[in-house]
Amino acid sequence: MVELAEIFRKYGPIYIQRFGDRILPAHRRAIRDIALCRTEAFGGHVEKCCDCGHEHFFYHSCCSRNCPKCSGSKTKKWLERRKKGLLPVTYFHVVFTIPEPLRYVVRKSPNELLGILFKAAAYSLMKLAADPHYVGGKVGFISVLHTWTRTMVYHPHVHCLVPGGALSPDHSEWLPSRKKYLVPVHALSKIFRARFIKLLKGIMPIEQLPSSIWKDRWVVYSKPCFNGAGKVLDYLGRYVHRIAISNYRILSEKNGHVTFKYTHSKTYRTKKMTLDAMEFIRRFLQHVLSGGFHKVRYYGLLHPANSINLMRVKWFLKSKLSDEYEIKSGILKSKEYRVCPVCKKGHMIEILKIPRNLMLLNERAPP
Ligand SMILES: [Zn+2]
Ligand SMILES: [Zn+2]
Repeated sequence: MVELAEIFRKYGPIYIQRFGDRILPAHRRAIRDIALCRTEAFGGHVEKCCDCGHEHFFYHSCCSRNCPKCSGSKTKKWLERRKKGLLPVTYFHVVFTIPEPLRYVVRKSPNELLGILFKAAAYSLMKLAADPHYVGGKVGFISVLHTWTRTMVYHPHVHCLVPGGALSPDHSEWLPSRKKYLVPVHALSKIFRARFIKLLKGIMPIEQLPSSIWKDRWVVYSKPCFNGAGKVLDYLGRYVHRIAISNYRILSEKNGHVTFKYTHSKTYRTKKMTLDAMEFIRRFLQHVLSGGFHKVRYYGLLHPANSINLMRVKWFLKSKLSDEYEIKSGILKSKEYRVCPVCKKGHMIEILKIPRNLMLLNERAPP
């Protein structure tokens, strides 16, 4: 089996040589981190069992969110926390997409335009839900950005998971939404489109953009999660701490070409695709976001600044106050030691640390 790291080690330097200055700093860093994860470049440590004396040596991980080796356990923790925080109400799954010609514009300045995508989606949802015809108060939701399709094509869209109801404007009660629908999608997509264009005008002259953008329909999807919000969270979790392709999907690398498998979106059949290694790396890197970009965001009642209002809601719904408050305040924090794999009794304790190799990482020593 071929790993992404091997592909990046073999073809990353050629890619950097070919595209040079055009490669974004975040993309250069991703190439480096994936190629060098769990090698001497990131240093390592030795652990020793306090009972039987068994010793084990580890190379450190790169901890990059773009590395397939470093993302699995984060997803599990994220999901556990989110599931604990679910309210005892019907949830709605709302998805905001943009027309295809606009995707190429977004890809050129992802930081600003993906930020606009988040803002326009949140604004339209909050505005329409606040209308007394629909819910009539302050809703809260979690938004997750997806940018890739199964063949790593660029397709940015935002998924929102919304509890069906709102806190009344005077904060005195919980206003439940209708069972089968939250807000009308047609009106939602109109507000979303208008807001997106308004924000876009603030950063670029939109007259230069292809006119087809304004002809295409701006699709918003909204459905109640009758199978439970947990199922949607599982689906979203797969993207939150994951990257565009996992190692298990890569089948082979031969003569400058990479073959991977994917599930066809309509037939659900497993298919194979072979790409030139440079195109494979290019497709992968277009989903690498710059370091500080948040692809999960919390709005309205679920925004940290609204924690008092969220407590109110939980009290109205007689829902148990989530454990996450305890975790946040540090009560449940404790250092976890690994159990010894040999004697299964003792704990593994770090006895030696090997520093990062700054030469291999192409970094300067701190002053
Ligand atoms: Zn032991
Ligand atoms: Zn890594």
